[in-house]
Amino acid sequence: MVIAETSSEYTYLRSNKKFPSVWCSGCGAGIILGTIIRAIERFGVSKDDVTLVSGIGCTARMPAYVDFNTLHTTHGRALAFATGIKLAKPRMNVIVVMGDGDALAIGGNHFIHAARRNMDLVAIVANNSIYGMTGGQFSPTTPTGDLGTTNPYGNIEQSLDLCKLAEVAGATFVARTTAYHVFELENFILQALNHVGFSVIEALSPCPTEYGRRNQFKTPVKLMEHLRSLTVPTGKETPPGKLSRGVLVNRKQSSYIQRYAELVESVGGHFHA
Ligand code: SF4
Ligand code: MG
Repeated sequence: MVIAETSSEYTYLRSNKKFPSVWCSGCGAGIILGTIIRAIERFGVSKDDVTLVSGIGCTARMPAYVDFNTLHTTHGRALAFATGIKLAKPRMNVIVVMGDGDALAIGGNHFIHAARRNMDLVAIVANNSIYGMTGGQFSPTTPTGDLGTTNPYGNIEQSLDLCKLAEVAGATFVARTTAYHVFELENFILQALNHVGFSVIEALSPCPTEYGRRNQFKTPVKLMEHLRSLTVPTGKETPPGKLSRGVLVNRKQSSYIQRYAELVESVGGHFHA
């Protein structure tokens, strides 16, 4: 695909990368990347003032396609690398994109401690309830009873609510929506960019290839319809089996960077916050 120099996509996409992307038809990753790009455009900062960091997995391919500062790191460690970037360049807008396995299994420790520190990062978790890239193994967010390559008779584990985990660990902005609700997702990302402290956005995302076809969602459309009906807007009663969708936490608290700057100044140093 050749991207016209006059198109708005040209501004943000790396036109020398091979398009279409590696993502399967019907995958939510491209939809979510689109919302990130549009939120950044509305946020109104230069591309040079944005860094997109990822670990490993299908979601983690996002930075390859966009013309920000980008870092594609190791599995589960995206938040650790992002923390280093933020400390070295505190004015940088650092966005971390992770899948559910990346963020909550091998990266679960980093997730908890980034939240505990209220580290000034925007963490976007594309939650498709499966390990997509490695072939459909269950993840910490796979619903009990669902099928995968490692759970051919049904997952016997409890599914983790990553928004609740983020809240109890100390995140000061937490929101959940889906890849179906694109305008809402874009708005939440924009709110997170404006928030001081650790922001977590769960974007429930379709993986028709590894999750949908093994379970009862045989087409990408069926899976998207499932995501649409799985969530209920905040303020309405959430029936059992459904998830609340909206801004779940939004509170002010000093962030790690603010406290670090104060500490450095208090001992006679200078921190460029
Ligand atoms: Fe997307 Fe799933 Fe395909 Fe990965 S395997 S690109 S998550 S649809
Ligand atoms: Mg996943």
